[in-house]
Order: sequence, then C-alpha cells, then structure tokens
Amino acid sequence: MTIRLDHFIAGEHRAPADGDYLESTNPATLETLYEFARGTEADVARAVDAASAAFESTGWQRTTPTQRGHLLRRFGDLIGENAEELARLESQDNGKLLREMTGQLKGLPEYLYYFGGLADKVQGSQIPTNSPEVINFTQREALGVVGLITPWNSPMTLTLSKLAPALAAGNTTVIKPSEYTSRTILRLAELAYEAGFPAGVVNVVTGLGAEAGQALVDNPKLAKISFTGSTRTGAAIAASAAGRFIGSTLELGGKSPNIVFDDADVSNAAMGVIAGIFAAAGQTCIAGSRVFAQRGIYDELLEKVTARAASIVIGDPLAPETELGPLAFEAQLNKVSEYVGIGVEEGGRIAYGGGRPDVDLPGYFFQPTVLTDTTNDMRIAQEEIFGPVAAIMPFDTEEEVLALANDTEYGLAAGVWTTNLARSMRMSQRLEAGTIWINMYRAMSPMSPRQGFKNSGVGIEHSIESMHEYTRLKSIWINTDEGPVADPFVLGR
Ligand code: NAD
Repeated sequence: MTIRLDHFIAGEHRAPADGDYLESTNPATLETLYEFARGTEADVARAVDAASAAFESTGWQRTTPTQRGHLLRRFGDLIGENAEELARLESQDNGKLLREMTGQLKGLPEYLYYFGGLADKVQGSQIPTNSPEVINFTQREALGVVGLITPWNSPMTLTLSKLAPALAAGNTTVIKPSEYTSRTILRLAELAYEAGFPAGVVNVVTGLGAEAGQALVDNPKLAKISFTGSTRTGAAIAASAAGRFIGSTLELGGKSPNIVFDDADVSNAAMGVIAGIFAAAGQTCIAGSRVFAQRGIYDELLEKVTARAASIVIGDPLAPETELGPLAFEAQLNKVSEYVGIGVEEGGRIAYGGGRPDVDLPGYFFQPTVLTDTTNDMRIAQEEIFGPVAAIMPFDTEEEVLALANDTEYGLAAGVWTTNLARSMRMSQRLEAGTIWINMYRAMSPMSPRQGFKNSGVGIEHSIESMHEYTRLKSIWINTDEGPVADPFVLGR
C-alpha cells in the first residue's frame, strides 16, 4: 500500500499547494512505498515564512543557549528511542543495509548531544583597543532562516550534520531532502517538534531539486544555504547565493585515492580497500574509488580484494547476513553500469564483477566491481561514479603516487596504508584532501571537522568550527568616556 506524505511546515503536515505528489520506490523490491508532496515555490514560501516568523517571534528569540542545548539533547534521545523504526524506514526507502543503519543510529544521537553541548559555548571575545576609554567586543549571532539541501545517499547523517549546528546557534530551518529519500527526514522533523522545538523552527519541504530546491535557494528571506550534493549542483547554488550576498556551505563530490604501500599490512589494507569502495554500495562521497597499489604488493592486494569481492553477500538489505544492497534508484544503476562500459572502452579490464548479480529480488543490484589496466587519466578514474566500482592502479614511488593522487579536481578524502611512520606523516602533509586516514578508512565523528578541498566543497561541517558556518560576527565598540574619543587609532579605516 502506498503511503502519502505531506510537507512538514510550522509543526503540521501540509498538503502541497499544487496537489501533486512524487512516487518513491523501495530499490530492493521495486514496490512503490510513498508519495511525497511535490513542493513548489508556494510551498517553499510558506515554509520559509513559518521559519521566519519562528525566528522573529519572541518565543524562539528568547530561547537561551542552555534551553537550546536541552532541546537538542531531547531530540537526540528521541532519535535513540525511535532508532529501530528510523533504521527500517531508511533501509526500505534508500536500500541501505539494515545493519548499517542500526550501526548509524547508534551514533546519530551523538550529533545532537555534541552540538547540544556547544549551544552555550558560542561566544565572542574582548578585543584590545588603543584607548583606555574604548571597549571593543564581538558577539556571534544566529543568521535567521537557513536552507538545508541534502542528498539521498546518507539522508539522516548528512541532514543532522547541518541541522544540529544550525539549531544550536539559534537559527530556524527549512530542509529540502532528496526526492529519492525523504521519508526519514520527515520523521526527524516530527521528532524535533515532539522534542519541544517550537512550530516553524524545523520545516521540511519535499520535492524535486529544480523545483522545491531552486525555490528555496531563490527565496529572498533566506539568510544562508547549506548544501550537500554533487559538485555541479553545488556550483549553481553557490552562484545563486553569491548573487544575493548570502553565505553557502557546500559539501560536494569526491574521487578519493586509497594508497597501499609495499610496507603495509596487506590483509588490513585489502579490508580497508573493500570497506572504502563497497560499503553502502560505493554510494558515499568519501568512496575510495581510486586504489593505488605499490608494485611489490600489487598482485597480492588485487588477489585479496577480488577474492573478498567475490564472497560479498548481495541481497535483501533487511537481512542480517547481507553485505551489499541495491543501488538507490534506477538512474543510479544505469549510471554505474554505463561507467563500467566506459572503463572497458578506455582499455580497462574487469577483474571482478561488472554486471547485475544473481539475486532473488527485482531491485537495482550491481556486483562489486574491480577494474584493472586503468590509468589515472581515464574518465573512470577522474569522474565520480558513486557506485561499487574500484579502479586499481600500480605505482612505483612515493613521489609518483602523490602526483597521481592529487591529480583530480576533487579533494575530499584520502587513505594511506603503510607501516612507515615518517612516510605516513609525509603523505598526510602533501595529500590535497580535507580528511586523511592512515591505516584506516571511513572514520567520521561530529567532533572532527570535515572540509572538502578543491571542487569537493567550501566551508566546514562537524566540530566546533562548523558553528561559525551558522553564525555571524558582530563587533561592538563602546566609548566609556563622556567626551569624544581622543585616540585616532580607534577611528576610521
Ligand atoms: P544532487 O546534487 O543531484 O542533489 C542534492 C540535493 O540538491 C537534492 O536534494 C536535490 O533535489 C537538490 N537539487 C538538485 N538540483 C537543485 C537545484 N537546482 N537547486 C537546489 N537544489 C537542487 O546530488 P545527489 O545525487 O543527491 O547526491 C550525490 C552527490 O552528493 C555526490 O556527488 C556525492 O559525492 C555528494 N555528497 C557529498 C558529501 C560530502 O560531505 N562532501 C556527502 C554525501 C554526498
């Protein structure tokens, strides 16, 4: 049975102004699960107005940082209490493994607890002046209504990475989740309301990027846009925001190198390569899709990676033994399949996978795929595939692999496998990426900053640094003397 779901605006479920809905399918079974409201400019305007009224209204304006911290912690508790439901909803809507979601749900309340703890630690400072009678201090203020636009590949984590600091800093929000995976975000908004956030502080407008998303970016009352998604969409959003002089935080695509040196523990490295590219069916921005193996261990690594790829259990994402679920929607399956074809046309050889697996479900499944005979200048090594496809390439020297690893438009993350401490330090200094993992891959925490270098993003997510993305800094000067300020050093520019 298909469930119809409306926007969540000002604490209520609101039908779309145009009355249109979009179908959403379970990517494992191909059942139509939901009809999400197809948001238009009118729905977005209604949500932004609700958020603006909530921001201006005395209730939210007078909320103290301590109260905001309590609300965030309560929200975190509710996510924990509803973890089982949220994990199942995500698995059915997105195709993510239930066991991955169960693990993710253990960590998600921590985002709310961490930023709840930061709510009362956002502060300015006192600045020295050259006049004893003049006092200068700064304060950090909320921005107003913040628009949060998120992708489909890890809906809850990527939304809470924005929502938690935005709320902790005292903003109100309008979320536009991906049209493919809006279910859990609507549920999160209900839980935020239940936790006690006033009506209008957390709103969700569902719909297409070109319609609801674009309308949100273009809404004149918006104070900031925080976006996670593809580099191409991010560039368009940044241009719109810049034209209106509002800030944008952008978390974009990646094509991350995972580098294995001869001196590494090859078994550990092979597991890191597998997790790096096949976890979440490769549908992660940090996927280690370019694997560089030093010549001495190349054959051994390839053998270990392909052997493990061949034993990966593919199937029903709800089954506990499943290791690889479906891709999230049909266009994604077609894209991954086309890229494998492009890789082969370019001269790559399929060492494992490359097609549809034999699974007793009709969904969008694709084999874990390993390509060899690839070079870093091929499209398959330069363009984000966002699927379970690894290109494994040999190298000889550290200098050579550094040049290859950095030869990409992206700079999101990089992995290095080595037992040589000095080498690990050299690599961490010279790799052009915002996150570097040594002898590990995929680790992430709300405490640790994430920043995409190059075309992978602008601005910081997670950590105390990300609070600055959701505040503005005001400098306040006070002349404590009854007369005019005497010292010219404090005047003018
Ligand atoms: P996408 O850019 O197609 O869509 C992302 C969101 O933007 C969706 O909600 C979509 O509806 C909306 N959107 C699309 N066009 C829009 C427009 N013109 N105006 C406003 N909103 C618009 O990306 P996707 O396919 O959903 O997500 C996959 C991408 O996200 C990959 O490139 C991946 O690397 C990236 N990603 C990055 C990070 C990170 O932290 N850097 C994390 C996860 C995913």
